[in-house]
Amino acid sequence: MEVELPPELEELRRTARRFVERELEPWAEIIEQRGEVPTEVRALLAANGYLGMRVPETLGGGGLGLFAYCIALEELSRSHRVFTLFATNTSGNTPMAIARHGTADQQERYLKGLVTGRLSTAFALTEPEAGSDAAAIKTRAKKVEGGWVIDGQKHFISGGATADFVSVMAVTDPEKRARGGVTAFLVDRETPGFRVGRIDGTLGSDAVKLAELVFENCFVPDAAVLGRVGGGFALAMESLADGRLTMACTCIGSADRMLEMALAHAKDRQTFGKPLSSRQAIQWMLADSAVELSAARALTYETIRQVEAGANPGTGPSVCKLYCSEMADRVTDRAVQIHGGMGLIRGFPVERFYRDLRHYRIVEGASEIQRHLIARDLLGAAAT
Ligand SMILES: Cc1cc2nc3c(=O)[nH]c(=O)nc-3n(C[C@H](O)[C@H](O)[C@H](O)COP(=O)(O)OP(=O)(O)OC[C@H]3O[C@@H](n4cnc5c(N)ncnc54)[C@H](O)[C@@H]3O)c2cc1C
Repeated sequence: MEVELPPELEELRRTARRFVERELEPWAEIIEQRGEVPTEVRALLAANGYLGMRVPETLGGGGLGLFAYCIALEELSRSHRVFTLFATNTSGNTPMAIARHGTADQQERYLKGLVTGRLSTAFALTEPEAGSDAAAIKTRAKKVEGGWVIDGQKHFISGGATADFVSVMAVTDPEKRARGGVTAFLVDRETPGFRVGRIDGTLGSDAVKLAELVFENCFVPDAAVLGRVGGGFALAMESLADGRLTMACTCIGSADRMLEMALAHAKDRQTFGKPLSSRQAIQWMLADSAVELSAARALTYETIRQVEAGANPGTGPSVCKLYCSEMADRVTDRAVQIHGGMGLIRGFPVERFYRDLRHYRIVEGASEIQRHLIARDLLGAAAT
């Protein structure tokens, strides 16, 4: 089932698909082979307007609405996961946070650089003892004359090792903590007292690398506060809420590519004198993937429409993130099965997508946390 989109979104999709197929796709295998992202990739995305897509035009961005942004991400995710990570500026979407909450100075200093690809950033919320339970963060910022002193440690920060500046969540009022006691700070890479610690590689998307970030007696001026003092937890949750829908669309784009590849292989590959596509066992896998993909699209597009119309989508974004991340895993697993041994060969996209898509059931609110939010909404007070 095709979901009909307005003509301008279909045009945006076609433009993005051409760009991905002609210009980005050749970089996908290079990224895998080098184990890092070549500088040309960020420059290419910036030159074609794929960094800062949602940032208002008045601030130098693309000014796209949520739906258009999601369609563009869907197309980028048909190639390599790194492209969507760059387009959303890793997790947390720091450009949008600066566009919404930053001062004019912060917008001048950071936003232009992010949109043009001159600067990169990272979003630092998670700590060794605070992942799903983000409210348990311990990184502390104490008020001093003219600024704040930050002490603590973050880990698993995507792109943190190479970021020019990071957006860091720290406790500024231990009494209030997540209820008005956490503040967001923009910390430049060269700030004394801030250093990158251990670097972790990952199953899939290894080129991005996760970094431990260490803050030891790290002084930042008052001007480094993003938004209001005490508003950091709400700001982080706002960014992650946006991320649920963009991540759902990313999963849809990747699953779409996997179904497309599975279909092509099933028609092409002959066993026992007949194409795989003539076998019921294979047809059922293809049919199941098509059904789930259609359901994912219908669900996610409707939720995006509600958000764009200003309606409260309730737990809709959680439902989308949960369903789409699990759907993409199943569709990719079937694509591997239909490709047989070929589906496990390094350098072949199906094998790479299988590894990359496993991330989405864990990052930015794992499946269990989304289920918890959905059940809490269903059960109300009976949930506790
Ligand atoms: C590739 C990657 C990139 C990342 N990038 C970033 C980044 O850029 N910035 C950032 O701040 N963080 C980042 N993270 C951290 C990520 O957000 C956390 O890993 C995630 O929130 C899960 O936290 P955790 O790893 O501490 O797992 P835990 O919170 O320890 O959870 C472990 C498991 O238990 C489940 N669980 C937890 N609590 C409950 C419960 N109450 N009931 C039932 N099940 C539960 C979880 O769902 C999970 O399956 C990244 C992580 C990865 C792996």
